[in-house]
Amino acid sequence: MALAAGAERVAAEFEYTKEDVNRGVQEFIRQMDEGLQKQGATMSQIPTYVTAVPNGTEKGLYMAVDLGGTNFRVCSIQLHGNSTFSLTQSKVKIPQQLMVAKTSHELFAFLAKQIELFLKTHHNDHYVTHVERRKSYVGFTEEQVFSLGFTFSFPVQQSGINKGTLIRWTKGFDIHDTVGKDVCALLQKEIDALHLPVRVAALVNDTVGTLMARSYTSPGKTGTLLGAIFGTGTNGAYVEKLERITKLKKMGGVSAFEGETGDMIINTEWGSFDNKMSVLPNTPYDRALDKESNNPGIQMFEKRVSGMFLGEILRRALLTLVEDKSVPLFSDEHSNQNDFHSTTTIHEASPLWRQWGLDTSFLSITSGDNSAGLKVTRQTLENDYEVSAPSAEDAEAVRLIASAIGKRAARLSAVAIAAVVISTGKLEKPADIATSNNASLEVNEDNIVDIGVDGSLVEFYPNFEDYIREALREIPQIGPQGEKRIRIGIAKDGSGVGAALIALVADQGR
Ligand code: ADP
Repeated sequence: MALAAGAERVAAEFEYTKEDVNRGVQEFIRQMDEGLQKQGATMSQIPTYVTAVPNGTEKGLYMAVDLGGTNFRVCSIQLHGNSTFSLTQSKVKIPQQLMVAKTSHELFAFLAKQIELFLKTHHNDHYVTHVERRKSYVGFTEEQVFSLGFTFSFPVQQSGINKGTLIRWTKGFDIHDTVGKDVCALLQKEIDALHLPVRVAALVNDTVGTLMARSYTSPGKTGTLLGAIFGTGTNGAYVEKLERITKLKKMGGVSAFEGETGDMIINTEWGSFDNKMSVLPNTPYDRALDKESNNPGIQMFEKRVSGMFLGEILRRALLTLVEDKSVPLFSDEHSNQNDFHSTTTIHEASPLWRQWGLDTSFLSITSGDNSAGLKVTRQTLENDYEVSAPSAEDAEAVRLIASAIGKRAARLSAVAIAAVVISTGKLEKPADIATSNNASLEVNEDNIVDIGVDGSLVEFYPNFEDYIREALREIPQIGPQGEKRIRIGIAKDGSGVGAALIALVADQGR
């Protein structure tokens, strides 16, 4: 088989049609509902105890810390009340021995010490107040105490806005006695031991932070509906009606929120949408990736959408062609006729032979390659992936398959976005009457549905948003008119300001 035909055959396996999109949306909505009703559903739909999104007019000085993996970040955020903010930040690497310390105290005392250092360096007024005049935390007035949002990117069972017990450590951390404990209380204890004027006001999930940050900075005062991450992983958090979160009643928690906004932000954990594989696409490459991953059968949506996996899907698809002797990918047949030294081969040491050897950034490079003869793709294959002398035909085949994988990821992302927009009824406003008459709808601040996104994939993969929009138009409940009303904006590095905003909302709810 000719190379082009072989590549087209593989690319076609990644086609995700209009019918697939619509089936996906229906099932996504069903699984979202199930997650709101009961614990232990495929999609966790975790109540965050955050009951409002900001509108940009919020003011004040807040702190945020972020314990994610390798680093610990401390920052202070001045919210100016006009959708802008200023941020002061410091970052320190977590010493390896503290990640596997004997006791929680060792790690959390280190974190508190970093907060103290930060105050000393950047907010000396608060620090001096403490040392010279007050001597103890108790002596601070409410105004002098910083409210802090604690972004903690490990699995926690949250039971209040600033309460959550660690389920298990991940990412190389392993401190036995932290498991089952409230991580906010652990941090507060060490902060108090240093007599710092800091109150751990909120436990923050990074996706929720993205939603809050976008809602504060987005144009207009409507408030953002959804914050979504398409980076290493994928996840979304959105504003849900409290009354629809029926499992919260069973958890005994709903009465505490009566008289508030009537809303609560839900952390969907949509990476695990359809783990049972009733509607997700499943090529042989997807199946092999999952089988050889360290968590087979889990995070099935994420495994088709996010940065951690797309490169690996492409790698497996390419190797299938390489191993198919009837299709001449990276073989002599197409090697450069003008240079008799060049024969196309994948070097033995090429990362293409290794699991996870192909980075998703390569999909962006090749899908966006407009150079003559796909020179950029060929050079990248040669320099980064040890494929010697790839031909233009090779590069064309690689680009075709990479683009198919990227486009499928974007169309799957549209499924998640559409499901949230449809299930929350956000497009069902009077403005829609115009759509049924086929009159052209004027999109304005009142009928915009705002969505904040973050992550390298949506930021750098060429036309990712365009592909999402194309799919949204194919869904009857949204259509071209609805799609126009959906505004998608980047919420870059929202974690600091997002955590600060959650601390602010937590203060208001006290
Ligand atoms: P995180 O989600 O961990 O906060 P990022 O949003 O930067 O961080 O996402 C990192 C992921 O994005 C990695 O899986 C990486 O392979 C992928 N990535 C990095 N650069 C690009 C790019 N230019 N195009 C597509 N994916 C990329």
